[in-house]
Amino acid sequence: MASLKFIALSGTTDVTENLYVYEYGNDMIIVDCGVGFPGPKMDSAGLIIPDFTYIKKNKNKLRGILISHGHEDHLGALPFLLKEVQAPVYATKLVAGFIKDKLSEHKIKKVEINIIDPENDVLSLGVFKVTPFRVSHSVPDGVGFAIDTPEGKIFHVADYKFDWTPVDQKPFDIKKAAILASNGTLAVASDCLGSTTPGYTESEEEIEIRIEEIIRKERGQIFFTTISSNISRMQQALSVARKLGRRVAFIGRSTDTKAQIARDLGYLHYPRGLVVSPRKARGLAKDKVMYIISGSYGQPGSALHRVAHGEHNLLSIGPGDAVIFSSDPAPPGSKVSVDALVDRLIRLNVEVHYYDIQENLHVSGHGSQEDIKMLFALLKPKYYLPIGGTIRHMRDYRNIAVGMGANPNEVFEL
Ligand SMILES: [Zn+2]
Repeated sequence: MASLKFIALSGTTDVTENLYVYEYGNDMIIVDCGVGFPGPKMDSAGLIIPDFTYIKKNKNKLRGILISHGHEDHLGALPFLLKEVQAPVYATKLVAGFIKDKLSEHKIKKVEINIIDPENDVLSLGVFKVTPFRVSHSVPDGVGFAIDTPEGKIFHVADYKFDWTPVDQKPFDIKKAAILASNGTLAVASDCLGSTTPGYTESEEEIEIRIEEIIRKERGQIFFTTISSNISRMQQALSVARKLGRRVAFIGRSTDTKAQIARDLGYLHYPRGLVVSPRKARGLAKDKVMYIISGSYGQPGSALHRVAHGEHNLLSIGPGDAVIFSSDPAPPGSKVSVDALVDRLIRLNVEVHYYDIQENLHVSGHGSQEDIKMLFALLKPKYYLPIGGTIRHMRDYRNIAVGMGANPNEVFEL
């Protein structure tokens, strides 16, 4: 007799490299396909790719790959998987745009990429019926999945928080999630990374005010850096620049490309004339320009790294200028390179704003303890599957579930 399998192929010993398999009989679907970031001793250009052996062995069963949102640790390994197996990919519009760009960079063609509409779509993938619904996170266009299986409904809610004032004004669709959960929930597989943090996670809205406060005081060039998939943060930087009379130029391939994709698809909004070419920006007065630049993890070879080392063909930086790091705290492997870059900039007498001294430049994209309780209360699952964290986070996630009446053996630490 067939049984339902939930397999975490990675993403259980580290917070990255998310890849989960749902299997029943002759059908299998995958949720997310992320990369990990190398440790400090590894080659900084390298990425950690999940082990695809199990998927390759069962590739005839694979009915589809669902991607929850646009972060690299949820979609970065797709090109590597799609070199091994063929399957249709499902993602929301912005995320599908990022995926297409990534696949063309890897020269992968003939992949069926389906854009899902989280308001209306229901997908039939073998025995699985998948209903997406909107969630909020630090990046726009994220979704959770309600997966109907022959054994019951499982909610797969990757990175999320309950943000009622997100930058894209599309909050977590709790109404839809509640309706989907109303006929019973077998299990929830959900983000546990914030389980060690008390309270609710702050809204993204808070950040814009702080960015504005900082930039208002500066008189030199502003270099603003975030991870390139963080379109919401770019939108906030653009809004502040507009308000304070600065023009903006996008610097670095990943930032420029992702901004372009997001603008074309209607996810990044700015008036004509606000964004100018790097060459034009360079000709402006220093207090009239903001560069949104790649390299927030201090990667050698990135645009910001080159600027800081006097190796950029167009831009230079010095006393009176400011750099704002506004990205998630660096993944473990990149902490060393961020620190080195920050030190380098400070030595150049550049004003540096980063999360160690300026905690409030980033709010987490991950739900804290109260967000997690709210999700549990909303979905009322029988079983709990903590994902996206280490054992520390899984244990606190379990404690939260137990505190709400679950049996410890109903929470599976993977
Ligand atoms: Zn994420």
